[in-house]
Amino acid sequence: MAIEERRQGRAAAPGLASGPLLILDDGATSARVAGAPLQEDAALRAAMAAAAGDLAALVAGAGDDEAAGVLAFQMALLEDDALTEAAFAAIAEGTPADVAFRAALDAQVADYAAAEDAYFRARAADLEDLRDRVLRRLAGVDDRALPGDAILVARDLPPSRFLAVPWSGGGLALGRGSATSHVAILARARGVPMVVGADVGGLLDGTPALLDGDAGTLVLRPDAATSAAFADQRAERAERRAFEAGFLAKPAVTADGERVRVMVNIAGPDDLATLDPAHVDGVGLVRTEFLFHGRDRLPDEEEQLAVYRRILDWAGGRPVTIRTLDAGGDKPVPGLTRPGESNPFLGVRGVRLSLRRPDVFLVQLRALARAATSGNLKVMVPMVSLPEELRRCRTLLDEALAALAAAGVPAARPPLGMMVEVPAAALAVAAFDADFLSIGSNDLIQYTMAASRDEPDLADLAEPSPAVVELIARVAAHGAATGREVSLCGDLGGEPGHLPMLLGAGLRTLSMAPPAVAAIKAAVGRWKAAP
Ligand code: PEP
Ligand code: MG
Repeated sequence: MAIEERRQGRAAAPGLASGPLLILDDGATSARVAGAPLQEDAALRAAMAAAAGDLAALVAGAGDDEAAGVLAFQMALLEDDALTEAAFAAIAEGTPADVAFRAALDAQVADYAAAEDAYFRARAADLEDLRDRVLRRLAGVDDRALPGDAILVARDLPPSRFLAVPWSGGGLALGRGSATSHVAILARARGVPMVVGADVGGLLDGTPALLDGDAGTLVLRPDAATSAAFADQRAERAERRAFEAGFLAKPAVTADGERVRVMVNIAGPDDLATLDPAHVDGVGLVRTEFLFHGRDRLPDEEEQLAVYRRILDWAGGRPVTIRTLDAGGDKPVPGLTRPGESNPFLGVRGVRLSLRRPDVFLVQLRALARAATSGNLKVMVPMVSLPEELRRCRTLLDEALAALAAAGVPAARPPLGMMVEVPAAALAVAAFDADFLSIGSNDLIQYTMAASRDEPDLADLAEPSPAVVELIARVAAHGAATGREVSLCGDLGGEPGHLPMLLGAGLRTLSMAPPAVAAIKAAVGRWKAAP
């Protein structure tokens, strides 16, 4: 008889999900049983053919020459015998197909990443993409057909693959990752229950399972008593949500009558589909990197402008803070970010990358300046560490405005602010010429505590320590003393348990994942300033 089994991980996105397991194999955790060399040879050829078919289908749907060009580059690589001959040679000597292919491609990626020419360096990410595409096919995973109502299990999952899933009642369990990783942020925004840091080894497709995104538990083959308790919990949570929903349409006001502005963090207009603008005080953070993910070319000015306008239209005059591209770290963008950095979170990320790629940055600044004529737009720069970085952004914004004016294109100057998410910026906050500040607690915590935000084993260091609380209070006090607007848009802002600390520090504007709004408004109503 099937016996119930529990795998304990950590909570990453709240909610309960039930469904069959579906193991997403990234190749690295493959439980493939390797066959004889001839079978392995055939398996790799079949996986490469399937990957070529996937690419051909993508080319057909790409709709423009540039995207087709990038995809064609990957297809050409697949047809290049020089790329795969080492893999087939290793297979002939008895190495399993996945191991051989990964080793061959890793060697090529390293060569590309070390190239003198920036064009070839950029192509290393294409090769990594291609490597993973073939490895997934080798593991029998078809990316195009992931169900939204299963419990997906993987060692790790890039944001682009998460976004490809049509989520509808399912959940996600990862072996790695953490609650502040970007895929967890997406899961919270989409209401997808998620657990990280769980043992995901030895699981089988189709196993019935329950996933508790609050307790961080994955239950396999639940027995009748567990299933019943799970159903009760679901009902209880639905009741609590219904109570909190009573606060949704009202402004957030503390128990002693002070108004708190509650805004939302979004990754694009799709996150707004089920949200009523009248329920929030605006959009406190648009993470534009998701515009650049999971696609085959960078979005051009018109495309960006259309997306920004859709968000501004939705907001109907409420403030919308759009953050410039924060690629890098755990959000690589093929062809843009640098592959092979020894520590990507400490690497060329956010504003550091934008300033090194003014060609890409100026496109975004032009789109933003044009969008600024259609609503209450503010532009925010991520990962600023030095005042000079923000000054250079201002100069580039001036340049974009001057070029638009010279061409007779309508545009306006949006306020230019910055994230405070690097301790250097929090400590020297007065030195920055920012029109407004927004504290990014996710990164502020990881950089203050020297604890990677995607390391599940360091979850205790991801809680706001006295050092982090002091930095938050320091930035809030600077805002109060100078009249400069300070908000917080890290995930702490959506956690009712941390609300007293944030309000106590003096913050009165918080931005969070949309599903957190009702619970935070309810918690604001319970809070009173200390006499
Ligand atoms: C943060 O670091 O808190 C933040 C809001 O930015 P992101 O999570 O996108 O890095
Ligand atoms: Mg950040």
